[in-house]
Amino acid sequence: MESNKSLSAWQKSQQYIPGGVNSPVRNFSKVGEHPRFIDRGAGSKIYDIDGNEYIDYVASWGPLVLGHAHPDVVKAVNAAASRGTSFGAPTTLETELAEIIVNAVPSIEQVRLVNSGTEATMSAIRVARGYTGRDKIIKIDGCYHGHVDYLLAKAGSGVATFGLSDSGGVPEDFARNTLTVPFNDPETLKTTIEANADEVACLILEPIMGNMGIIPPREGYLNELREITEQHGIVLIFDEVITGFRVAYGGAQSYYGVIPDMTCLGKIIGGGLPVGAYGGKREIMQCVAPEGDVYQAGTLSGNPLAVSAGITTLKKLAEPGVYEQLESRAATLASGLAEATQKHGIDAWHSRVGSMLMLYFTSESVTDADGARTADTERFRQYFWGLLERGVSVAPSQFEAGFVSLVHSEEDINTTVQAATEVIANL
Ligand SMILES: *Cc1c(COP(=O)(O)O)cnc(C)c1O
Repeated sequence: MESNKSLSAWQKSQQYIPGGVNSPVRNFSKVGEHPRFIDRGAGSKIYDIDGNEYIDYVASWGPLVLGHAHPDVVKAVNAAASRGTSFGAPTTLETELAEIIVNAVPSIEQVRLVNSGTEATMSAIRVARGYTGRDKIIKIDGCYHGHVDYLLAKAGSGVATFGLSDSGGVPEDFARNTLTVPFNDPETLKTTIEANADEVACLILEPIMGNMGIIPPREGYLNELREITEQHGIVLIFDEVITGFRVAYGGAQSYYGVIPDMTCLGKIIGGGLPVGAYGGKREIMQCVAPEGDVYQAGTLSGNPLAVSAGITTLKKLAEPGVYEQLESRAATLASGLAEATQKHGIDAWHSRVGSMLMLYFTSESVTDADGARTADTERFRQYFWGLLERGVSVAPSQFEAGFVSLVHSEEDINTTVQAATEVIANL
């Protein structure tokens, strides 16, 4: 497979951009070699600048549930652009997207639009702190909430501890108020809360972990979190930047029937353009300026192009049969992959919720971040390249989810299963 043009594009981009990319995982550093530079996308396919075609399961890391360059989205963006790209004044489009979100997501009575998932989590936590007057926050080991300073912390050895940041440039003081506990472990959460009585503003988590592969919550886990946080006056924040409008129209909270106090959204609600949102109970959202004293702002927030792409995408997702189709296509893919690993005696843990799926190369069961860390990344590297050579693009990391979209045809899925089976047979 020819990739000379991508190689020279990368050599040039590295001169001007750190690592040659504007988000680290794009640079293929986890799988070696150079990234493929993309020329265009259409439906379920992407095409690189060397002319190679791939069936795409990265979906821009989640947003493209309608596939690439969906004609209705393109039309909506064009129409918005021709009327002006930004005003710094309210438009009715913003209210339209906000209304759709409020009607769809059970926990959201009011919502603020921002430009990314990172902004959404950062702002939600500021609001939770303002609302409770408390400083400490609890996050879950392995959950990703964007590149917010104090959210780049994880726990040591599965025990709740004061967070140490995983990133350079984050002062210890910034991470000091971040406590970390394991996923699917309500007991450690309880102990941690009791040890910090009346000091914890919020618990933030991905209700389905989607940044260490896919790790679903154990039965009843989210209900327990709801109870514990309620008892202690702690704001429960679901980061549904991936799962919102992905696993169900109302997100993981409607899928599992557990309603948090606040919710963060991103990815799908922008239809492939930069959007994020945070919302929740009216009483909490009334803390946000200019109603309240928690400041949060954005020059391009509620941008008409991004909001138009979002509205168009969410309207499509409200049509009947959408989530059934996503479920059935993803189920076919997942069972094809499971059959292949079983047949060829490859240790694997398969994980899927709706159209998010993951294949870990491990003999362990994966119910938290430590389980995910047992995966064999060298084996994943071989799997990744085997797929890419056969025209299937998955994320270049063992710990990033695959996404099935509405434009993946049965033929796409069958081709993918066939390719994966060949690759797995040769691992
Ligand atoms: C992608 C993601 C974010 C960050 O969103 P950006 O738009 O990349 O800033 C936050 N939370 C979760 C769960 C995500 O998957």
